[in-house]
Amino acid sequence: MRTYRNWIDGAWASDSGAMIERHSPAHGALLARFQASGPDHVAAAVTAARRAFDRRGGWPSFPASQRAGLLQKLADLMERDAERLAVIEAEEVGKPIRFARGEVAGSIELTRYAGALAWQISGDVFSHLGDDKLGLVTREPRGVVGMIIPWNFPLVTLFQKLPFALAAGCSVVVKPSELTSGTALEVAALSAEAGFPAGVINIVTGTGSDVGEALTDHPGIDMMSFTGSTAVGKRIAGKAGAALKRVALELGGKAANTVFADADLEAALDGVLFGMILNQGEECCAGSRLLVEQSIARDFVERLVERARKIVVGMPLDERTDIGALIHEQHLEKVLGYIAKGQAEGAQLAIGGDRLRRDGLEKGFFVGPTVLTRVTPAMTVFREEIFGPVLTVTPFDGVEQAVALANDTAFGLANGLWTKDVDKALQVSKRLKSGTVYVNTYLETAPQLPFGGFKQSGIGRENGLDGLLEFTEVKSTFVKL
Ligand code: NAD
Repeated sequence: MRTYRNWIDGAWASDSGAMIERHSPAHGALLARFQASGPDHVAAAVTAARRAFDRRGGWPSFPASQRAGLLQKLADLMERDAERLAVIEAEEVGKPIRFARGEVAGSIELTRYAGALAWQISGDVFSHLGDDKLGLVTREPRGVVGMIIPWNFPLVTLFQKLPFALAAGCSVVVKPSELTSGTALEVAALSAEAGFPAGVINIVTGTGSDVGEALTDHPGIDMMSFTGSTAVGKRIAGKAGAALKRVALELGGKAANTVFADADLEAALDGVLFGMILNQGEECCAGSRLLVEQSIARDFVERLVERARKIVVGMPLDERTDIGALIHEQHLEKVLGYIAKGQAEGAQLAIGGDRLRRDGLEKGFFVGPTVLTRVTPAMTVFREEIFGPVLTVTPFDGVEQAVALANDTAFGLANGLWTKDVDKALQVSKRLKSGTVYVNTYLETAPQLPFGGFKQSGIGRENGLDGLLEFTEVKSTFVKL
């Protein structure tokens, strides 16, 4: 069992007080205790972050080469401790260790990429304003950034923000999810070992109502960068708007995987299954709606269900596990409630649908792969984010109907397309209203490619150069010669 305090001003906070206990969602054992912080802890962290940012010679004054070097050092230390971080991530979330390792590796890659980008921050010079004038356009760090992180990918959702903000010269106060704060705190300690100055990275643990609200409201925060549900995102955007704070939001999704009859069906089956089960379906880009061309629908779903029967549901640290435990009991009930509602509204259950309580799984919150067929756009399961290993199946006839169904959602995070016809893939892709489209693959990531949502899936972009620029303000300087 691990006990953590907040990480403020380059050290573990010394105060004692109430703690939040995190029990394994898979087997019930006590895993970790995090500080149940409040507005005073947030204020202390913001003071430290402000000092690191505002003092002469502070973090924004560090040359890009130095900021990049520190980020590379942090990535080295994360690589050294990768297995330890993966175990913490797998246990706290309930996800399979194989996928947790991938998440750690992805976070290291993002850190190296953002470090390299630090070297590239540049501006423009306009020399044609008249003989006696010069215009400079420069990019400055936004300031102190408040970051709020969800529980489903605690490490990678943090690393789509943190190294980019640091590369841009911002200091940060992070509030991880109260359920899964371990890896963020571990990384904070590694940042001190890497040599980051005190106050540049601060972590305050606690609930959304106690810490998240105080962080959003604090006048010392210049920008809020939030990943989580659309409901909380709207609340944060409203408050940030009232205070005219900058805001970036990565929110919910309801992605469709659209399979045309001319696809490589073996590859499509793999991709659709992966998009459904990854992270127990607790994934903002989960391919939770299968749209399949009518002529192949029956055969495709039969083969999919056959494959789903082979999926291993089990303990997070078991190397064979494909699906781990859902995050907590209320969430399990919510997922089961959606499955029941789907059936009540006319969908048919092809596989799954129950809480699994067989040998060894009795104490955890397990649901196996679940497929609901005969789903229409009017049904709740087609419209709302379920956040479990649940796939809805809706057949379509031709490109027009496929595009209409895929776009028939309030969300716009991702889409998958399966066809061997490149022309069709590019034409359909152009018409899809989402920040990412995967063609003949699903859930790829690359640090160079910006990530974010259309519509209710968010505002702003993470990763890529766009991800770095989110953390900068543009300044124009006129010079009279
Ligand atoms: P959530 O919105 O309930 O919580 C996210 C974070 O916000 C947590 O740290 C929580 O403590 C905090 N929070 C809660 N209420 C708050 C408040 N009033 N003020 C400030 N902070 C508050 O989301 P979750 O259940 O942790 O995560 C699941 C959601 O996140 C899903 O909707 C998923 O799609 C989304 N998500 C999006 C992305 C993306 O990149 N677009 C990535 C991962 C998860």
